[in-house]
Amino acid sequence: MSLAGVRHWVFDMDGTLTIAVHDFPAIRVALGIPAQDDILTHLAALPAAEAAAKHAWLLEHERELALGSRAAPGAVALVRELAGRGCRLGILTRNARELAHLTLQAIGLADCFDPADVLGREDARPKPDPEGLLKLSQAWDVAPAAMVMVGDYRFDLDCGRAAGTRTVLVNLPDNPWPEQTDWHARDCAALQRML
Ligand SMILES: [Mg+2]
Repeated sequence: MSLAGVRHWVFDMDGTLTIAVHDFPAIRVALGIPAQDDILTHLAALPAAEAAAKHAWLLEHERELALGSRAAPGAVALVRELAGRGCRLGILTRNARELAHLTLQAIGLADCFDPADVLGREDARPKPDPEGLLKLSQAWDVAPAAMVMVGDYRFDLDCGRAAGTRTVLVNLPDNPWPEQTDWHARDCAALQRML
């Protein structure tokens, strides 16, 4: 399959469509999470009251970041071209759904996505779990193999592999994970040129 023939695209948000601004080490320090722990996994294992309080802090912190989001190089043109071609577009993010909508508005792409196709951390188990991609596959009535997952991190690629979609890595000059990657582009502008 050529990239130009793909009609169903799912994007990671932070660092893929936006310039990454999360300071994960600072978040871990603020929430008392060990450096080697996955943030969402760590929070999920806490007693309910502590988990709720820390999730609330995280949401507030991320809301500030969402409002100040800036689009990654070439991301707006790429998404607009795909939408113009009639492709079905979704978002799968470990961020909160509400903040994903805020972020899309902040970078001027909200009209390119059906709100139901924007999946946040409330909607599916976090990547690399394939649940979110499989949900979109069902909702769109399309085989995972006909979909592509676009992201900037290992979790995005592993998620695609686990769901059986094709994978695209963007926003890294070199590809540390060639085994997990079907296409690699240094940024979304380069990806658009591959269509
Ligand atoms: Mg990312």
